[in-house]
Amino acid sequence: MCAKILKLPEVVINQIAAGEVVENPASIVKELIENSLDAGASRIDVEAVAGGLDLIRVVDDGCGMSREDALLCLERHATSKIQTVDDLQALTTMGFRGEALAAIASVSHFELQTSDGKGTRILGDGGKIGSVEPCARNRGTTVAVRSLFYNVPARKKFQKSQQANFVAISKLVETLAIAHPAVAFSFNDKIYAPATLKERIDEILGEHEHEVQGPKIYGFVASPAKAMAMRTGQYLYINHRPVFSPLLAKAVKEAFGTRIGEHAYPRFVLFLKMDPSQVDVNVHPQKREVRFRDESALFREVQRAIEEVFVPTHSFSKPLSFPAPASTPFTEQFLAMPCKVEEKELDWIMQEKPLAILGPYLLLQGEDLILVNLQAAHARVLFETLSWEKGSAQTLLWPIEIPMTTEEEERAVQLEKWGIECRILKKRLVVDALPPFLEPTDFPQFYAEWKEGKKIEEIATRFCRSLRKNCTLEQGVALWREVQKCKDRNHDPLGAPICKRLTEEDLDRWMIRA
Ligand code: ADP
Ligand code: MG
Repeated sequence: MCAKILKLPEVVINQIAAGEVVENPASIVKELIENSLDAGASRIDVEAVAGGLDLIRVVDDGCGMSREDALLCLERHATSKIQTVDDLQALTTMGFRGEALAAIASVSHFELQTSDGKGTRILGDGGKIGSVEPCARNRGTTVAVRSLFYNVPARKKFQKSQQANFVAISKLVETLAIAHPAVAFSFNDKIYAPATLKERIDEILGEHEHEVQGPKIYGFVASPAKAMAMRTGQYLYINHRPVFSPLLAKAVKEAFGTRIGEHAYPRFVLFLKMDPSQVDVNVHPQKREVRFRDESALFREVQRAIEEVFVPTHSFSKPLSFPAPASTPFTEQFLAMPCKVEEKELDWIMQEKPLAILGPYLLLQGEDLILVNLQAAHARVLFETLSWEKGSAQTLLWPIEIPMTTEEEERAVQLEKWGIECRILKKRLVVDALPPFLEPTDFPQFYAEWKEGKKIEEIATRFCRSLRKNCTLEQGVALWREVQKCKDRNHDPLGAPICKRLTEEDLDRWMIRA
């Protein structure tokens, strides 16, 4: 027999809807913090007991609510933030659905204390209001959520461990605290004082060295050496709302180019300012996923803004005026250079005293010790020379001759593009002049790498790694100076670091472990 159709009671509707809005303690904390931010709070204190399952409390000093609004806000679809669908186009608040509080209240023992001047305290159980009474409270709102999911055992059973919930809440507080550095936050005993964006990011995520400033995008990226094997260091916000966008993460990664390895993820905190009508946040109740109107334009814009970061503009990376390459190999040129280089230009070099050389490693004394991988430095210098610096090939006294196949012959124009002056003569490649940093005796090795049809990044890097030559200290220093003129001074073309700083703590750690 069919059952009779009945309209569901409001409390049951809220409990079902709660499944979408409040999946776990962290999603509740998110809704509550967003409400506090929307209320203009300058301080938000979050507390969680047993990973939020026993208690979640969020206290703010925002605008608070009147007794009338406090009662209304617990009803589903009660919101002060939009009135018509058109308002969604100009959304400036985090919330707009008016379902969070009703949903949260329906699956917990709920307590709301709020004051817009006059205090009101409301207690409820599983969505039913128990008591409403005046209370003493400064302006602002406190929401306490106890015994979460006590009346939906099925949902409670599927919750993660307390520890996992704790980590999720803590990450969430961090994510929102980064987006609102001027607001003081706390989570249990962790306190974030009001700060600048840079200070807040550095405090929570560690130093992010490079500032990004585009017309619609700003934020910070960490140096390529800090790229990670996972995406967990990637924070993207659109109009201060944390979002996830594989598309824009890819744009950032592409802008990092060869500075990081193929499987590494750059660390960034980026904020996009967008006209609310250009982005649809109404995709999912959790509002993490977004859609853009003009995806490819946005992709390019993000990519360009990040690329700007790596274009050297400050004096530190300004090319130094060394003598133009003559016909002697580069190392000799540097050795022949006058010892007294203009002090002003080389300030930064003078701070780094060469100490020792061991195989391809050069040790410099700066504020810390700096260990330079000369093979990586050579690869970077060679790569940039072949890619960009044309017209400085050095004529060889005796041309180099290398046998070549027909297939190699067909690709030989590529060598010319890199500034290698050559001819083809009866199945032989005849090289007349070589660009700097590619020495005649090493050319056959370079050719062997080229033959395999790899990209220039790979050729330069593998070639330099294969050279097992003993440099003198002077030659090492010359190479170190040369790499300072490069567009990327920190990585070889395949993204490996050129130098590492060794601090006293590093050495302590090293010795103790040994
Ligand atoms: P939404 O945020 O989508 O409007 P909520 O259910 O989260 O829906 O909140 C309902 C309403 O309650 C809000 O529109 C707001 O007017 C009020 N409110 C909720 N939390 C606070 C708070 N911390 N301070 C002041 N007003 C609040
Ligand atoms: Mg809300």
